[in-house]
Amino acid sequence: MIRPNTIGENILRVQERIARAREKAARGDEITLIAASKTQPADAIRAAYEAGVRHFGENRVQEWEGKRGLLGDLQASWHLIGHLQSNKAGRAAKAFHCVDSVDDFGVAERLDRAWAELKAAGKLRILIEVRVEDEATKSGAEISGVRALLERIAALQNLAVGGLMCIPPFLEDAERVRPYFVQLRRVRDELARVSGLALPVLSMGMSHDFEVAIEEGATQVRIGTAIFGGRVAI
Ligand SMILES: *Cc1c(COP(=O)(O)O)cnc(C)c1O
Repeated sequence: MIRPNTIGENILRVQERIARAREKAARGDEITLIAASKTQPADAIRAAYEAGVRHFGENRVQEWEGKRGLLGDLQASWHLIGHLQSNKAGRAAKAFHCVDSVDDFGVAERLDRAWAELKAAGKLRILIEVRVEDEATKSGAEISGVRALLERIAALQNLAVGGLMCIPPFLEDAERVRPYFVQLRRVRDELARVSGLALPVLSMGMSHDFEVAIEEGATQVRIGTAIFGGRVAI
């Protein structure tokens, strides 16, 4: 396992890079660092928490359910950032504070129902994941359908839509990812205009391209390898 002080040093470096990108973009607002902790053991997650991280993103409901018992004392927000199948929506509503990868009305409906059954306070926070790449295999709602999807989800009683998320194609050169970030921001701006909802959250940017994402308006970045090093195969 990667040593805890290495994780701490990596986080410092990432925070410095975020601060620099924020300055370059002349942004005064806060940018939330979400540590993408899929495949990482509880010890590594705890080390990141001790180094100041308060938001974590997990990809699989089951994996997080397995680690959760070891980390229940941490005052952190847990985000689901991986694809959610509708048959796991009930468990996701129970295990996460935010579901950042909703791309289908059936999933949203199940989350809504599950939240009502939990009788939890407030609403479950979600983001709509948008497909910014024309590849049928990738997750995310199609841009052409996202307005209708948002309108249906906004009518559900127990969900609060904070904004949008995307996973652009992996391109070595981060500059080539920029158009996808611009696209997500434009989709958000247009949706906010037609719906009257604020949609302040833009979750975009990963280890190799988050500075570009911040320049294009990201409010949340999801960083895995730059914090934890390589992922353990599962
Ligand atoms: C793993 C993952 C990340 C982080 O990726 P890195 O390149 O390791 O920073 C971000 N978002 C999602 C959805 C992921 O699955």
